[in-house]
Amino acid sequence: MQVTRDTFNDVMVPNYNPAAMVPVRGEGSRVWDQDGREYIDFAGGIAVNVLGHCHPKLVSALHEQSNKIWHLSNIFTNEPALRLATKLSSATFADKVYFANSGAEANEAALKLARRFALDNFGENKNEIIAFKQGFHGRTFFTVTVGGQAAYSDGFGPKPGGVVHAEYGNLEMLASLMSEKTCAVMMEPMQGEGGIIVPDEDFVSGVRALCDKHQALLVFDEVQSGMGRTGALFEYMNIGVVPDILTSAKSLGGGFPIGAMLTTNKIAASLVPGSHGSTYGGNPLACAVAEAAFDIINSQEIFEGVRKKESLFRQKLEEINSKYHVFSEIRGKGMLLGAALSPEYQGRARDFMLAANQQDLMCLIAGANVVRFAPSLIIPDEDIVEGLARFERGIATLLSK
Ligand SMILES: *Cc1c(COP(=O)(O)O)cnc(C)c1O
Repeated sequence: MQVTRDTFNDVMVPNYNPAAMVPVRGEGSRVWDQDGREYIDFAGGIAVNVLGHCHPKLVSALHEQSNKIWHLSNIFTNEPALRLATKLSSATFADKVYFANSGAEANEAALKLARRFALDNFGENKNEIIAFKQGFHGRTFFTVTVGGQAAYSDGFGPKPGGVVHAEYGNLEMLASLMSEKTCAVMMEPMQGEGGIIVPDEDFVSGVRALCDKHQALLVFDEVQSGMGRTGALFEYMNIGVVPDILTSAKSLGGGFPIGAMLTTNKIAASLVPGSHGSTYGGNPLACAVAEAAFDIINSQEIFEGVRKKESLFRQKLEEINSKYHVFSEIRGKGMLLGAALSPEYQGRARDFMLAANQQDLMCLIAGANVVRFAPSLIIPDEDIVEGLARFERGIATLLSK
């Protein structure tokens, strides 16, 4: 059966508008489309393909598990889930892990847990959730409401209540919104979708102090920033501020859908049997792949490599900018970088992304003004250099129009 990009318009709900080419195969940081055209991948499936495409160790973990057992549901536990939870909890502040299938689901669990913990320990008036403008936490109705872009949550009828937004980086504003009613503050320790915004460390530690003062839980959404992407296992380790609940997904499965919520024994105790659940959460295939990914990622060698690759990336982007003067700032950390467009090119990030695609490079945007790069943590240096040469050609073509 022959399918093409045109088939999409015939049979798919129109909530996406995918690129013109249809990828069919990937290896490392290279991808091939239906016509055999080769691309360099700086998009990484939106910060998911943390070890590139078809990493041999992930392929063999999936293959091995696929011959053992695929699915059980949570009426039974399984070995890959137990091993992965053991590794995640011993490598982090957490004692306990809950598995889901996506970032939104991990955050949904975190929000429900925060509400239930507050109810159990402080009564029903402590239910307010504070999050940040431009934040992104997923597309379920609760998570999209907590996310700080009304455009994503408007138009679906009444929203879940008790959600308030502060400006990211504005500690005074947060302080003025917090009270004994605050049950949790949810934040990305580095905003991804919102434009690759790295907060001041003082801001993050200030949020921690306010949460302590008001007995509110601090929830870090590390769905995009976690699993090695910023040069540490989780970004909270770089910042030195420990949350009460942390969520992970995207890079966690290296391309296989999985999400996780991590927390302490004390807080976890509120999710008693029957209080929350998922048919697929902790699926053996997903956990086996994530375990293999974790074993590779959680090493100083990988983290140092990420920091070196970041320097190379930044150096090459600065070189491009010294010729074309299109960026006002290169920001982000590790293999999660943003090139913010200068005032002259405001609103045109998508044009830059499409121009790059024309030159056989896959990249992302983060809002209308930032070109985003989220490649594999082990992308070869040659692919960084070649990919950015393609990016430069895309910019040259765009500017010559
Ligand atoms: C992508 C993302 C999510 C949502 O993850 P899904 O797997 O798409 O549900 C949540 N939070 C952050 C910070 C993200 O970047």
